[in-house]
Amino acid sequence: MALSGIQIYKLLPQTNCKECGFPTCLAFAMKLAAKQVELSACPYVSEESKAQLAESAAPPIRLISLKSDGNEVKAGNEVVLFRHEKTFYNKPGIFVKFSDEMSPAEIESKVKEADGYKVNYVGIDLNLDGFAVEETSGDPAKFANVVEVVRRSSRRPLVLVSSHPAVIQAGLSKLANEAPLIASADEKNWEAMADMAKKAKAGLVVRSQTVEGLADLTEKIKAKGLEDLVLAPAADGMSAWLTQTTQIRRLAIKKNFKPLGYPVIAFPKNEVEAAQAVTKYAGFIVVDQFTPALAYALLVLRQNIYTDPQKPIQVQPGIYEINNPKPDSPVLVTTNFSITYFSVANEVEGSGLPAWLVVCDAEGMSVLTAWAAGKFDSERIAKSIKTFKVADKVDRKRIVIPGHVAVLSGELEAELPDWEIRVGPREALDLPKYMKTAL
Ligand code: SF4
Repeated sequence: MALSGIQIYKLLPQTNCKECGFPTCLAFAMKLAAKQVELSACPYVSEESKAQLAESAAPPIRLISLKSDGNEVKAGNEVVLFRHEKTFYNKPGIFVKFSDEMSPAEIESKVKEADGYKVNYVGIDLNLDGFAVEETSGDPAKFANVVEVVRRSSRRPLVLVSSHPAVIQAGLSKLANEAPLIASADEKNWEAMADMAKKAKAGLVVRSQTVEGLADLTEKIKAKGLEDLVLAPAADGMSAWLTQTTQIRRLAIKKNFKPLGYPVIAFPKNEVEAAQAVTKYAGFIVVDQFTPALAYALLVLRQNIYTDPQKPIQVQPGIYEINNPKPDSPVLVTTNFSITYFSVANEVEGSGLPAWLVVCDAEGMSVLTAWAAGKFDSERIAKSIKTFKVADKVDRKRIVIPGHVAVLSGELEAELPDWEIRVGPREALDLPKYMKTAL
């Protein structure tokens, strides 16, 4: 049974030293009971209390980690049902699946292509996470051979997919010193699969048509001493699958129901199912094919869902060149909130007009919000102009500030007396017309 806040409080030092970031031990205890903090934030808990608090300290969804040659994909450790309540922590690993009946040469070429695929999104490099080999041949030797080909072509973690223990064993024999994921154990094969996963230190996917069936299987497998489990709800259709994953997540997080306190794996049949799995609530997603279009869409969606809603996505402050600017091109100024940056950059780029775009560090806020918060003022703009040595790039010292902060123009003239300060439009959409007619 999970402990209440008061019960947890009685096990804490009760010195109210504030080192955990909370004003009192009671406040910390309440957060711990709600699974919103880690016990390790308090450095003074006794070993005896730690043992008693273990259940309350454990995240409601177990952390599962796949490892191979320095690469690691983690899922689980989530503490909230909805992203806006706090944040989601471990992005679902996206894996590309290959059948063991494909030709080794084709697999090698496709794995290398997917392995090298990279998207730069708001300054962050996004990659796929690993590969899955699915047995469709019924032949352990063929399966093992394909696992070897994939491993030779990429160092990323693997998921081995078969319901036959002999096939999985053949695949595992090609993977030394790594922690793959085995998919899947079901009502018929769970004992053999659990023994094998335990011996290989691999994670094990548990598959059932019903939520009750999943809970039943995880309890039996846990009793055998294997705890690194992943749930594969197997209901047919998007609606039924969504219902199951939502029930699992609710029971794990709201009721602390341990038999379902594991990440979920999804095997989507198409792009829409894959997108649903990103949002609700897969920890691993195994797609049937690699295409840059699908990879881009899933990686960007995942990035947006798994960012902390309290910390806006930011771009690197600096000076950005748009359409090969010349020394007489205008200097536009904006903030480092990613949406603001991309709105401005896309409009100017689409117009074909050259410009220097100075992105100021406004702690990731949009123009008006940053101005209201004192994070986008004349001092900061002037500092950016100087720090990024904008004067060395242009021979016409002319800055365009966003129309929303026209009020800053006088102060900025005082900060940058050598520069001509112009007030641009309020909306990025109007920038091209402004640049053509007013500059
Ligand atoms: S760090 Fe520990 S002892 Fe100090 S206030 Fe927080 S819970 Fe209490």
